[in-house]
Amino acid sequence: MYPKKDKKAEAARRAMQEAIDNHTADLAPVVDGRKVILEVTDVIRQYNQYDEVVTAVNRASFRVFMGEFVAIVGASGSGKSTLLHLCAGLDRPQAGSIVVRGHKLENMNEDELGKFRGSFLGMIFQSHHLIPHLTALENILVPTLMCGRDEISYDQHLKLLVASLDLADRLHHLPSELSGGQQQRVAIARALINRPQILFADEPTGNLDRANAEDVLQLLLDTRAEMGCALVMVTHDLSIAARADRVFKMEGGRLRLWNNRLDGILPGYEGGEESYE
Ligand code: ADP
Ligand code: MG
Repeated sequence: MYPKKDKKAEAARRAMQEAIDNHTADLAPVVDGRKVILEVTDVIRQYNQYDEVVTAVNRASFRVFMGEFVAIVGASGSGKSTLLHLCAGLDRPQAGSIVVRGHKLENMNEDELGKFRGSFLGMIFQSHHLIPHLTALENILVPTLMCGRDEISYDQHLKLLVASLDLADRLHHLPSELSGGQQQRVAIARALINRPQILFADEPTGNLDRANAEDVLQLLLDTRAEMGCALVMVTHDLSIAARADRVFKMEGGRLRLWNNRLDGILPGYEGGEESYE
């Protein structure tokens, strides 16, 4: 799966690494003594559907600090996935700016954005988006091909990820041969393989039962603690949102701060297994 170790491949990998290094010096601004990993300002994303314009994200602004756990809740269709895809550089807004570690995503071309994403951002999609003809292991390693880091540096990390996600005996199976929960865990390993500085997760516990959902959440929180990455999670589960440092709510494309953990429990949330919808 790794590029061959011949001279040409080695040179290509070095060149790619250089490009990433040059492009990604740590320019993260510091606000209130904390490093800002993500700054989203007045972002608009509209879709044209037939004769209608749908404003999926309407002047959204928010900031995420390094190491923070931010939850985003909101009704289905309110624009949560669209916002997450924009922040992760998978889609481009019509207006507004998205700055990751001090780097404006709009200033990068598709190539640079791809490498930047591979180096600093991890994404767990609402539907896993595994590549059907690749094995679990190959799917997990896809982001490593973008970065050209030394394969030795993945070895130990890969082993730990595979062990903590209980995937050791499933690595050589295709996604179609895995259960929904296993596919989800492969998608999580893929998002974590490059040690991202922000991990975006779109309803990562949405299709799991309570015990599995708790395991996945715990894994994401442990990963955040170990790697020091920020976690931005869309969830319907208020018991999960209640554990975030801050909770934002999306309504008709508009985003607002709903609650700060320091202020106490979420409005209307009494504990237990309630869900947003
Ligand atoms: P959520 O994740 O909160 O359920 P989405 O971000 O998926 O919401 O969708 C927000 C709105 O944008 C919805 O009205 C949806 O129909 C619309 N939308 C999302 N993706 C597209 C697309 N590719 N083309 C047209 N409309 C879209
Ligand atoms: Mg969604």
